[in-house]
Amino acid sequence: MEQSYLIKPMLDGSYPVIDYGKGVYLYDKNGKKYLDAASGAVTANIGHGEKEIIKAMEEQAQKVSFVYRSQFTSEAAEKLAEKIAKLLPGDLNWSFFVNSGSEATETAMKMAIQYWQEKGITTKNKILSRWVSYHGITLGALSMSGHPGRRARFVPLLEEFPVIHPPYCYRCPYHLEAPACQYLCARELETAINRIGADKIAAFIAEPVIGAAGGAISPPKDYLKAIKKICDDHDILFIADEVMTGAGRTGAMLASEHWGVIPDIVALGKGLGAGYAPIAAAVASDKIIEPILAGSKVVMSGHTLSANPQSCAAALAVLEYLEKNQIMRTVVSKGEFLRKELEKLKSQFWFIGDIRGMGLLLGIEFVEDQTSRRPFPRNAQVTQRMVELAKEKGLIVYPAGAGIDGVNGDSIIISPPLTITEVEMNELIYLLKEAFSVFSKEINLSE
Ligand code: PMP
Repeated sequence: MEQSYLIKPMLDGSYPVIDYGKGVYLYDKNGKKYLDAASGAVTANIGHGEKEIIKAMEEQAQKVSFVYRSQFTSEAAEKLAEKIAKLLPGDLNWSFFVNSGSEATETAMKMAIQYWQEKGITTKNKILSRWVSYHGITLGALSMSGHPGRRARFVPLLEEFPVIHPPYCYRCPYHLEAPACQYLCARELETAINRIGADKIAAFIAEPVIGAAGGAISPPKDYLKAIKKICDDHDILFIADEVMTGAGRTGAMLASEHWGVIPDIVALGKGLGAGYAPIAAAVASDKIIEPILAGSKVVMSGHTLSANPQSCAAALAVLEYLEKNQIMRTVVSKGEFLRKELEKLKSQFWFIGDIRGMGLLLGIEFVEDQTSRRPFPRNAQVTQRMVELAKEKGLIVYPAGAGIDGVNGDSIIISPPLTITEVEMNELIYLLKEAFSVFSKEINLSE
């Protein structure tokens, strides 16, 4: 292609034209092969080109691709909602389908506010959240996001929702360690609630494992339980943003399940359609939906393409594939394998500060000094360089944290399709090591 009129993101600078994908691999038009160690943006959870999904989509397309949700429902949408209710814990039984993660978190936010309104409480309309978080790019979702870089240009249009520190143990603001810290970062929520007033707060939203803003930051053991208890004690709903962590990414349908927490509302996206079709969902518990059904009867949200049969058929096929092949059962052991290999790299490369994450959502944070944990200067653009070097070697990794736009340390996410084999994991580590070796040479030369 000689000329492109496509508006492109500027992160990487090189835009190969994709030809096709197969399993964990992508092939560009020049015949270059890439191992997709990011599942795109933590999305292609079952790999590329899976025939069963394509077949299910084709069968649906032969019948009907689109109907408008207030005129018709469809078998695909009904079956998908039923499947989600079956796979999710507790009584998270009610799916509202949308087309992106941003729409899912924003719908969750609106559902929470509506829930209180239906109960006759109209003052509870603030949503609290954390710094170092990302809940989406639309204005409501961005208001909830503790991501200064992505907020910066639009601050006048946003609500100031983020209020507390994240459970970022590698850079603990209190310079303490869990559990001796007694989860001060969770207790900040209680302080914020007391300051603002529980009567003004509808919900608290958090990613169980922090993705794009932080680089797979997983919380210490009792953190999420502590958060849920504070929410319950103060009559505040807990929304889990599982757009990145959901649909099996950490070895369970929801990451929240690892800590025995059942949220009131969950946002799903990315892995739900696994990249085969744009689809996301806000999933509410019986408790949330009952007053809405008894009151105005409709959730005050929705998009033209919400619950379109085409996307629903794709997502249903993805969930059936996960179940049938018991994909989630191997995620934890695969994650442990990769993590061990990454730890070995940490002992070989001084600029690796932290290895973290859960299941197949792993993060690597880069530092200028392993002992002091001093981050690289922002203008060194280390995340961006790592992403470029990996891509040159034929490895796709996902940029996170400050590397994108100045939130905290530089980090990348390693999140291959859940279907990755041991041979492919070894190749992933080999390619990553190659990229780190080049970086190592570059940085030594620049000193
Ligand atoms: N929430 C989380 C946790 C995410 O990781 C993302 C996407 N990175 C979003 C919401 C927004 O999803 P989308 O890009 O599909 O709008």
